[in-house]
Amino acid sequence: MEPLSSNTILFYNFNYIDPVSCSIHSDMEMLVSGEKIQSIGKNISKATKTTNIIKIDLENQWVLPGLIDVHCHLSGSGKKLPKFLDSDKLVRFIQKRKFFEKIIYNTMKKNAFSALMSGTTTVRTLGDAHLCVLKLRDKINSGIEIGARIFSGGKAIALKGCHGAALCLDITNIEEGLEIAQFLINQGVDCLKVMATGGVTGAKAIDEAGRPELSIEVMKAICDLAHQHGLKVTAHCEGTEGAWRCVQSGIDSLEHGADYDEGLLDKLEELKIAIIPTLAAGFAYGGHSRKETGLSEIELINEKRISKNIEVGLKRAISHGGILIGAGDDAGIPLVLHGKIAQEIKMLKKEFGLTSMESIRCATINNAKIMGREDKLGSLDPGKYADFITFNPERNPLEKLEFLFNPDSVYKAGKYIR
Ligand SMILES: [Zn+2]
Repeated sequence: MEPLSSNTILFYNFNYIDPVSCSIHSDMEMLVSGEKIQSIGKNISKATKTTNIIKIDLENQWVLPGLIDVHCHLSGSGKKLPKFLDSDKLVRFIQKRKFFEKIIYNTMKKNAFSALMSGTTTVRTLGDAHLCVLKLRDKINSGIEIGARIFSGGKAIALKGCHGAALCLDITNIEEGLEIAQFLINQGVDCLKVMATGGVTGAKAIDEAGRPELSIEVMKAICDLAHQHGLKVTAHCEGTEGAWRCVQSGIDSLEHGADYDEGLLDKLEELKIAIIPTLAAGFAYGGHSRKETGLSEIELINEKRISKNIEVGLKRAISHGGILIGAGDDAGIPLVLHGKIAQEIKMLKKEFGLTSMESIRCATINNAKIMGREDKLGSLDPGKYADFITFNPERNPLEKLEFLFNPDSVYKAGKYIR
């Protein structure tokens, strides 16, 4: 065992809800040295010289690893977008202005802060309006700003003229794809996101939403480059043809989803491609009027079709088994606020038959695996960040997932946040 540093804390007297073994360990102790967990188990204090360390009694609370939202957009506030932003040209013009960077930075800072306060200690943000998201990530990591840990794809890579222009960099062929991917890697992104198909917002025709966009050749070239740099590639994908292209391109995970057939599900399992169904996004659109969502009639029709297909695909994936399922809510899009990943967890259980433990697992260890960070995140184990949330003894989140909306306290890297 390493020598104890001066900032070592012993947390004791808590019930650990462990998403790895899917069991509850009672009467636990956890030794945190600096930002990381040194050891966790029963009777640690007996085996360690703990005279000079801080001891914190967690008073028989339930403890979960900090939640992870694996698909959000930090630069979106969750409010309906003003109509003038429908113009890609205007958006591009505004994005180049210095004042815009400032506004977006502050929006992202606020959103990363509210995510952390809600118990989401890590977010993966996939496509933002400005690359200053990387600056915010670094400032949070160095303790200058307070917020959830950020893993960022910077901007998504899309076929020119396609879905989500404001959050994407456009390409038309392999050469441009490689150039943009290399540019993002040089900027220091944590992963890449490609737009394999069209999306709901911005679609001008029925069925444009799930239409395949980037080719296998382009996506494969981007994946090969990213993988050489140790980065994963995730794909916005809302149709089966697009999913087949992803499978053949080396994509690591599929965002949103489609009505996957057996052949596709076999491939997802074989190639270990994870799926992130973003149910909360469909729920938000489905539960509000068009006036509230700001969707056009065509966008709404597409949205309903895509949501239905995602549900069918997810049900099939669950009964197929062997496919890693992540929890991301697309927070930042209109009507999906940051810090509400509990909604996604709830939906995974309620409508798809997962147990409470299984759906919590999606938002913890599964998400950490999807990001390739299971060595540091997703559970409370030695060597990982001491990111955790606690619930009073009478508020067991396994009995009522609603409690996840409001943990009694939040700790990040062993530090009490609230
Ligand atoms: Zn998204």
